[in-house]
Amino acid sequence: MAFGAAGVAPLAPDAADLPVVTITEELALPDLSAQINALRKTSAPFIVEERVRPGDNLWSLLNRMGVHDADAANFLRRDVRARTLVSLRSGARLQASISPEGKLLSMQTLLDSPGNPNNATNLVLEKTIDGFSSRLTEVALEPRVEMRSGQISSSFFVAADRAQLPDTVTEQLLDIFAGDIDFAAELRQGDYFQVIYESLWHGSELIRSGRVLAAEFHYNGNHRQAIWFGTGDGQRGGYYDASGKSLKKTFLKSPLPLSRITSGFAMRMHPISGEWTQHKGIDFAAPEGTPIRATADGAIDFSGVQNGYGNVVIIKHGPVYSTVYAHMSRIATDRRAGTRVAQGDVIGYVGSTGWSSGPHLHYEFRVNQEARDPSTIALPPAVALSAMELPQFRKRVADITHRFAVMSPNPVTLASR
Ligand SMILES: [Zn+2]
Repeated sequence: MAFGAAGVAPLAPDAADLPVVTITEELALPDLSAQINALRKTSAPFIVEERVRPGDNLWSLLNRMGVHDADAANFLRRDVRARTLVSLRSGARLQASISPEGKLLSMQTLLDSPGNPNNATNLVLEKTIDGFSSRLTEVALEPRVEMRSGQISSSFFVAADRAQLPDTVTEQLLDIFAGDIDFAAELRQGDYFQVIYESLWHGSELIRSGRVLAAEFHYNGNHRQAIWFGTGDGQRGGYYDASGKSLKKTFLKSPLPLSRITSGFAMRMHPISGEWTQHKGIDFAAPEGTPIRATADGAIDFSGVQNGYGNVVIIKHGPVYSTVYAHMSRIATDRRAGTRVAQGDVIGYVGSTGWSSGPHLHYEFRVNQEARDPSTIALPPAVALSAMELPQFRKRVADITHRFAVMSPNPVTLASR
């Protein structure tokens, strides 16, 4: 866009500055090596900070930082703690102190802390008289609250992207509303959403996005809210609507979060035999390999090949209900008969095994072994908060409602952003 401004530079004296800004940014990376070379001429160690780019490995990263040090490379290969650096995710930040000869003096980076999502682990490598040493220290991250809103123009993903929602937040939204909103079929142009989530910082560095604290969708004439309510240490809890009813349904609306129904529970001509029969399930179109989720908690009743179904998993949810997932390309590991699954667990992947004309999921909802249309069945209601929890929850709702109101849920202003 700044290049477009270059064309009008003679008309507006200020505009002449714009391309200069752009060029400075573009030259920033090649310039680094010149800076490093310039610094080499001095004798003091210098500090380099780099981010892991897609396709990077530790060695290409060190090379870019100007580290040429065989001893350091050996240590990084050998040391258990240092080896975690080899699998750094893209975007991770590394700081190093380097001698003018390119020898590594120290290096540090923040890693995910496995036990506590609010912490990070600081990994420090240091050169000592006896060689290199490494140590790990826990760092408490500072939580901050972020607010975003977006409007649907084509799809939820495009809107989420434009609203600069981190991927982990988008994924959480899909999960939270999985029992209420069919993201592939129900959202229309002009629908909008608002979300409040936590982000975790270390000083001025954003380490990762955390939990969604509240979200709301205005779609298709409907309005859905989700408010996180934690219990005990705050790590356990769930999402509730404004009245305190849990959003966790006994059954998800769909075993695939983003797919469209290609054949519902109705009479149809069988795609292979050509005969008119009752289609005893729902077909979801999705690319081969798409993960399939258990729609409810239960125990695997059957897992294997059954002629027309191909690779199929059948889950029993108590004495009355069971669900069937057919034509899988493969069944997920450890999904043998008898094992327990939780709602949302991946049980297999979309494929085209058995009598199938192309990759899709054939899903059946059975009541007392009989395939039924899930949209016509009254399922057990969701759990609600207790009378003890409600007063505290209502305070929370009032606070969230205020924040959403402040966020200006006006689709017109949002569209122009
Ligand atoms: Zn089918």
